[in-house]
Amino acid sequence: MPRVAGRHFLQIPGPTNVPERVLRAIDFPTIDHRGPEFGALGREVLEGMKRVFKTAGHVVIYPASGTGAWEAALANALSPGDRVLMYETGHFAALWHKMARRLGLQAELIAGDWRSGADPQAIEALLREDGERRIRAVCVVHNETSTGVVTRVAEVRRAIDAAAHPALFMVDTISSLASIDYRHDEWGVDVTVGGSQKGLMLPPGLSFNAISAKALAASKTAKLPRSFWDWTDMIASNKDGYFPYTPATNLLYGLREALRMLLEEEGLESVFARHQRHAEATRRAVRAWGLEVLARNPAEYSPSLTAVLMPAGHDADRFRNIALESFDLSLGTGLSKLAGKVFRIGHLGDFNDLMLLGTLAGCEMGLELAGVPIRKEGVRAAMDYLAPLRSAGKRAAA
Ligand SMILES: *Cc1c(COP(=O)(O)O)cnc(C)c1O
Repeated sequence: MPRVAGRHFLQIPGPTNVPERVLRAIDFPTIDHRGPEFGALGREVLEGMKRVFKTAGHVVIYPASGTGAWEAALANALSPGDRVLMYETGHFAALWHKMARRLGLQAELIAGDWRSGADPQAIEALLREDGERRIRAVCVVHNETSTGVVTRVAEVRRAIDAAAHPALFMVDTISSLASIDYRHDEWGVDVTVGGSQKGLMLPPGLSFNAISAKALAASKTAKLPRSFWDWTDMIASNKDGYFPYTPATNLLYGLREALRMLLEEEGLESVFARHQRHAEATRRAVRAWGLEVLARNPAEYSPSLTAVLMPAGHDADRFRNIALESFDLSLGTGLSKLAGKVFRIGHLGDFNDLMLLGTLAGCEMGLELAGVPIRKEGVRAAMDYLAPLRSAGKRAAA
């Protein structure tokens, strides 16, 4: 393959662009994970992750992709045959459901339209019907990465409380953590699942569980088989910053650097505001092109990615290939039943206004080359939104 000059635009909704600083932080000799130096690293990243999840409880870190942390959440807290209520927000919710079935759980998937978040009222109604309190867990995906739709987690919590139901509440934040406001303790979540390669700006390879006292208590009697994923061994070793088996040491160097950037230098609230701003600019571009955002409800628009519907008769993947070949721009593909029908623009992680405008320019030119009928006004609309926000006074807030 001939060399392609300049930086590749990796604008899929994860893995995201890894900042140079994080890459450099990873590029150090691996140390003895049982030696005296390691404990300080372990303690710093575990403490930092508690601040990201907004929890005073335990956070555990696995050397695994997000899928591993999905399994850990279910395997630690539940027993074979337990009833679990899940909500079909899209591809990732459906995959988590499939996993729950494979693990021997009696998992029910509330049907969704792949354009909306989990419906708190539907969840409340099903919990009220469960007079014998046999449902052991409610699981939702905070940011459904296949559709660009956010579930209102605090409202789902209120629905569980309104039904006075004791089920555990589990939330997948793999593509929202450190990009979209999230509060494990305040929202009464029992297990939150996270991953490294999206908002945390790291390569793939780490994943997380944030664990409430209620979930930890449930794990003491839960009967699903588990060994590698067992919270007990992790928490015991983590006390001093160590791990029960070899951790992904170099990724933890990267995590330490990313946490300093997110928590100390930019601040989580500014990070969230930046993602909101880039998402709004993207939606303005999409509408200016004359195309439609997949998410139906403005209160559920994702700050970290936007899924765009292709006009009938135009294949989203053909356009994506043209954008890649012509402009070295990778966009997210439509997953399972959205294949060919949508493309997804990732605007999360280490990202700024001009990176977004480059991405949108690549989309606009690519759509034109693919023969998709659009108005060539999307980049203009995004600039008209972004530039005034940078004027004096607002600069600090932005
Ligand atoms: C990416 C993603 C996953 C899958 O994580 P892997 O790291 O690929 O195992 C699960 N859920 C959501 C919401 C995701 O965005």
